[in-house]
Amino acid sequence: MKFNTLLLHGCKDTSDRTGATLPPIYQNTAFAHESSAILERVFDNRAPGFAYTRIGNPTVEAFERRMAFIEGGMGAVACASGMAAISMALLCILRKGDEIISGSALFGGTLGLFDDFEHFGIHASFVEDMTAESVEARMNENTKAVFAELIGNPGLNTVNVRELADVTKRRGIPLIIDSTTATPALIRPLEHGADIVVHSSSKYINGNGSAIGGVIVDGGKFGWDFEKFQALKEYRKAGKFAFTARLRQDIWRNFGPCMSPQNAYLSSLGLETLGLRMERLCSSTLALAKSLERNPNIASVNYPGLDSSPYKSSIDSQMKDGQGGSLLTLRAGSKERAFRLIDRLKYAHVATNIGDVRTLVIHPASTIYAHSTEEQKRAASVFDDLIRVSVGLEDPEDLIEDFAQAAAE
Ligand SMILES: *Cc1c(COP(=O)(O)O)cnc(C)c1O
Repeated sequence: MKFNTLLLHGCKDTSDRTGATLPPIYQNTAFAHESSAILERVFDNRAPGFAYTRIGNPTVEAFERRMAFIEGGMGAVACASGMAAISMALLCILRKGDEIISGSALFGGTLGLFDDFEHFGIHASFVEDMTAESVEARMNENTKAVFAELIGNPGLNTVNVRELADVTKRRGIPLIIDSTTATPALIRPLEHGADIVVHSSSKYINGNGSAIGGVIVDGGKFGWDFEKFQALKEYRKAGKFAFTARLRQDIWRNFGPCMSPQNAYLSSLGLETLGLRMERLCSSTLALAKSLERNPNIASVNYPGLDSSPYKSSIDSQMKDGQGGSLLTLRAGSKERAFRLIDRLKYAHVATNIGDVRTLVIHPASTIYAHSTEEQKRAASVFDDLIRVSVGLEDPEDLIEDFAQAAAE
C-alpha cells in the first residue's frame, strides 16, 4: 500500500459493529461494567475495556492506533496538545539532575517549557547546530535525552535524523523527534533511527484548524538501561516497552493531559487527507518561495526546499520526493515593512497557527517570541523583520499574486 491508501485502509478499526466508517465519538466520562471483579481487572490492565476517559477512550484509542500505525511505531499516546505531548514524553524519562540536549532554534512554547524544567532540576543544554558531532560533543553522564525538531519552527533548520540517531544509539540515549512540521507524509523518523516521535496534531494532522491535540509515538525498539534511566526502573518488566508502559500507567495518567474524544475524532478525520494536503501544500510553498526569491522588495526568503537553502540536502536525502513542508519565512527589511506587508495581504489570516487549510501569517518577534530573550530569538532565527508564512490550500497563483501586491513599494 502507498501512503494515501495506507491512511484510509491500513489500520482497520474492528471494535465497532455498526459498520461506521469513522470512529464514533464516545463523548462520555465513565464506562460501566457488569461487576466489581471486571472493573478491577480493567483498572489493572488485566482485561480489555475502558474505565474512565482520562485513562482511555475508544475514540481516542482509534486515533492513537492510527497514529502508531502510520508512524510505524509500537504504540501511541494521545495528549491534549502538542505541548502536553512534549512535556509527557520528556517527564517520562527525566528526573532531577538529568539533562536534555536540544537545538537552540526551537518552537517558542518548547523553549518556555525547557525554562520551566529548570525549576524542577532538569536542565536543557542547547546546541546551535544539531549535527551529530556537536550533539555528541555536548553529551555527559547526565544526558538522558536528545530532542530535535525535524524542520524547526520558525528557523526551518532541518536535522538529519539518521546521522543524529547513529550517535544517540551508540551512546545509549533516546532520540526524540518533534515531527510536527514534517508529518509522516514526508518522513517517518522511526524508520530513520529515531526512538520516539512527538507531534502537535493541532497542525497538519488535524489539518483544518479545528482541534488542539498532540501525540507521542514510541518506536518500541530502544534498549533502556534501567540503571541509567532510573525513572523507568519500575517498568523494567516491560523491557523495550517501558517508556509507553510508564506513560500510560503513571506519568500521562497522573498528570492528566488526555485528548478529548471530540478532538480525537476531528484529528482522525483530518489524518485521512494528510497525504493529499501535504503534496499540495509543499508544491504551493515551493512555488511561492521561488516567486518571493525573485522579488526585489523581499530581503531574503528561507525555505528548506529551495536550492539556496543550506538544508536542501537534508530535505532531499530524507523527505519523500524532496518535499520541504509548508512553512517559509521571509525578511521584509524592517518591522514596519513586515507589518505593512502582512496587513496588505488579502488571503492570509494574521494568526498564530500552522498547518491550516488557509494561509496564515505572523510576525514571530512580537508574538510567539515576545517573551523570549534577545539571545533566544537570535538562536531561533527570529529577527525583527521576519514574517512566517504557513501556506494553505488556496490556488498558488492567487497566493503568488497576493504576496507580490503586498510587497510592492
Ligand atoms: C505548535 C507546535 C508545538 C506545540 O503544539 P500545541 O498543539 O500548540 O501545544 C510544538 N512543536 C512544534 C514544532 C509546533 O509547531
